[in-house]
Amino acid sequence: MRILLVEDDPTLRAQLRAGLQEAGYAVDEADNGRDAHFLGDTGSFDAVVLDLGLPVLDGLSVLKRWRSAGRVVPVLILTARDNWSEKVAGIDAGADDYLTKPFHMEELLARLRALIRRAGGLASPLLQCGDLALDTRSGRVTLQGQTVALTSHEYKVLAYLMHRPGAVVSRTELTEHIYAQDFERDSNTIEVFVGRLRKKLPPALIETVRGLGYRLVPLP
Ligand code: CA
Repeated sequence: MRILLVEDDPTLRAQLRAGLQEAGYAVDEADNGRDAHFLGDTGSFDAVVLDLGLPVLDGLSVLKRWRSAGRVVPVLILTARDNWSEKVAGIDAGADDYLTKPFHMEELLARLRALIRRAGGLASPLLQCGDLALDTRSGRVTLQGQTVALTSHEYKVLAYLMHRPGAVVSRTELTEHIYAQDFERDSNTIEVFVGRLRKKLPPALIETVRGLGYRLVPLP
């Protein structure tokens, strides 16, 4: 899962980036509204954390532009304390949720998990595909109740597929959603991760749809 982090305060941005990366997200970042708008317009993100008070172009304007262009990415806005009208304006401009500064990283992560699973049409934080379960809160994957040990990249690939039950996901899409923009991307590595997942999980679970990508198949 890939997050666009927009915050002009360098200290807070660094803290948020570290917390998001530790939670397993690929993170792209912007420190002003113009760059944020461009990145959100051109990149593939699973959610955006958007500060409203930004230089060059304010966060509310960025959000309005994305929404009027039809961009549906979940957006969580960061608002100043005691500014209720900013929250109202943000939600009316198309924000999906808000957090008031200061906040705890755990709360930000919980809200992001909720936004991302809702965007996939999923209500529960425990994702299931037959006997396979992935707990988005703990990052634990189990097969018939037994823990499956995965590397962080294997987990990212599996988590992305499990957020899109029944959908065929291309290698390009997987690559875009598990790596940040400045990362050395190579869609061949996706095949490697899928190959490793097939060794750790029932091999038929991840179906290859020739020429299109991969799909999770619930096993009987
Ligand atoms: Ca700010």
